[in-house]
Amino acid sequence: MIYADNAATTKLDPDALEAAMPFLLDEYGNASQPYLFAKSAKEAIADARKTIAACIGAKPEEIYFTSGGTESDNWAIKGSAFSDKKKRTTITSEIEHHAILNACAAIERHGFPVTYLPVTDEGVVQPKKLETYITDRTRLVSIMMANNEIGTIEPIAELVKITHEHGALFHTDAVQAVGHIPIDVKKLGVDMLSASAHKFGGMKGSGFLYIRNGVSLSPFADGGSQEHGRRAGTENVAAIVAMAVALKKNCDRMEETTQKLRKLSRIFIEALTAVGIDYRLNGSSNHLPGNVNISIRGAEGEMLLHRMDLKGICISTGSACDSVNTRSSHVIEAIHVPEEYAEGTIRVTFGAENTEQEAVTIAESLIDILKK
Ligand code: PLP
Repeated sequence: MIYADNAATTKLDPDALEAAMPFLLDEYGNASQPYLFAKSAKEAIADARKTIAACIGAKPEEIYFTSGGTESDNWAIKGSAFSDKKKRTTITSEIEHHAILNACAAIERHGFPVTYLPVTDEGVVQPKKLETYITDRTRLVSIMMANNEIGTIEPIAELVKITHEHGALFHTDAVQAVGHIPIDVKKLGVDMLSASAHKFGGMKGSGFLYIRNGVSLSPFADGGSQEHGRRAGTENVAAIVAMAVALKKNCDRMEETTQKLRKLSRIFIEALTAVGIDYRLNGSSNHLPGNVNISIRGAEGEMLLHRMDLKGICISTGSACDSVNTRSSHVIEAIHVPEEYAEGTIRVTFGAENTEQEAVTIAESLIDILKK
């Protein structure tokens, strides 16, 4: 089997698993309990918070553990709207993940207006467009750091500057970016940032929301006093510990991994070009390493995915969350991929474990299917 769908999820890092194991079998105390048996769980959570904060330039108390990207996004969007009695506007983009788009649809149903910014044909949210739509009645701007389908990295620092000039807050869904590109929340100036552990070698069902000190956001879950009383619930110690180990490892070897992933992408693309496949490469040149999203003229993405599956190769059409939906994804529509190419869109996302030979095999298998 060749796994090349690392934007959908990644394999759990073995070091992360090893670090997590004691908290499942031996030191399983509830971190909120005062006795000694719970001390190591409490300390492990504190250490993980410090490690994760250091990886993104935050302070430990600004990291709030959640159940993953979807929860973090929902918290940022709904928590922000519901803590605003004036019902001010939220601004987002047309190409966000459904965790953001559907959370926005939910606040709209409660009477909170949402503006959806269009993007360029490379999937870039232009600061000029934000400047046109932002007003003094905007409460929150939420723009993803990197798109999960086409890999475009957004101009976050510029967007933050405009947002703050208008007195609004800025949230970024950085689920595809954390652990894959350098991030410093203080330099970027973001007020909130969502991350998900299973996108960088951690466990599924764990993640975090960075909330800058001083940001007013209603709690996600009411209950116990965990996460400063803003996200109640007994902590998933093992997953939190695993997330910190995986993130630190990714950050420590980011430069090396980036070079490798860019090379794998090049090998794959060049193989298609060499035999004259008529395709368009989607996304901007400022791009997530390892993400290759192409639209092949006259092809059918769903058919390609299933034929590749029969050859033991996992890739994606559009985004994994859309895999039951046969029409073009909202992202492919938003970047205006011409009709004759749009349906033939596939996404290959390489990970650090993929080899050059695998990149060649994926390309050869795809070419073989297309020729047939
Ligand atoms: N945001 C983006 C950009 C994503 O790619 C994903 C997952 O694919 C999510 C949010 C949801 O994250 P999770 O799977 O942790 O709920």
